[in-house]
Amino acid sequence: MAVMRKKYLEVSIKKVPQFQLPYWEIDSGKDGPCFMINAAQHGNEIMGCEVLRRFCPVASEKLERGRILMLPFINPLALKKRRTNIDSLPCKPKTGSKDDMNLAWPGRMEGTEIEQLVFTINKNLLRDVTHNIDMHCLSRINVTCAWPQESKKIMDFARAAALPGMKISSMESASGPITLARFMNSTGRIAFDMEFSGQYLLSEKEISRGLRMLSNCSKYLGIFPGEMEGMEEPVICMNEMIEVKASIDGLFVENGLKPGDFVEKGAMLGTLFSDSTLENEEVRAPAEGFLGSYGCRRRLSDVDLAAMHPYASKGDILAGICSQFTVENETSFAMLQNQKGF
Ligand SMILES: [Zn+2]
Repeated sequence: MAVMRKKYLEVSIKKVPQFQLPYWEIDSGKDGPCFMINAAQHGNEIMGCEVLRRFCPVASEKLERGRILMLPFINPLALKKRRTNIDSLPCKPKTGSKDDMNLAWPGRMEGTEIEQLVFTINKNLLRDVTHNIDMHCLSRINVTCAWPQESKKIMDFARAAALPGMKISSMESASGPITLARFMNSTGRIAFDMEFSGQYLLSEKEISRGLRMLSNCSKYLGIFPGEMEGMEEPVICMNEMIEVKASIDGLFVENGLKPGDFVEKGAMLGTLFSDSTLENEEVRAPAEGFLGSYGCRRRLSDVDLAAMHPYASKGDILAGICSQFTVENETSFAMLQNQKGF
């Protein structure tokens, strides 16, 4: 049986109090791949954190070869802000942030706080890693990205995830700063990043999908026993998406569909309700296909949902427990009123 250890990486960053980054290491004691799985590079993308909490005991029981490193909270600085990046603000696009952790690999010792954090993780944990899954969330169907396009090993690893959608980006077309997956791929490792559907929240359906992904990918690597599941399910290609755009200003009223649904050409997608004329405009599918996205959302913006974020600070109220309302309650309330002189 594999050994599970909780470990801490000492992180010393200028302008940030020293802290320890916790992670799990599951070691089979036998040679094999070193599989790193991380979540929450973006602090509001928390689905993968819960996936790892549940996957840890599964991996401890099933790991037969190699090692698994799990970092459920790889960017505690953004997590504590309850936002995408440490400089994110409500309703501001996340693009162009100088503090985007997933655009900071492999980091810099003398860089920003985030670049220093990335540098520390890379220097201390990534050296032996052969495979990586970087878990994100976006308000759309799951996407798997892989670089470079022609690498069959990366594609096969990503296909093993059995996610409902797949988007392929080639190394050549990727320019500018480097994501974790791209950094891993460019240094000869097998890696992809993926998106759960929904930020700021935990969805049981998505978490189950994430657990299946990690078990499947472990089976693909030969470090878990058993057959991969869900490989017969259809996978939507997200590379070429026909965008259906609003023809007028108005409230977009959805027609009860969800990402992943198949629609015929001409199918009713919803109604635009004009705020200037009060007229309705039907929105119909211009072609048949699967819905890769659905609904009018500013999906690349941070939304003002920070107060709804389930990350608890010590002392935060998590629940309130009440007793049944009785005559005694009424009596004591009446007494209280009398005391206050109402
Ligand atoms: Zn992300």
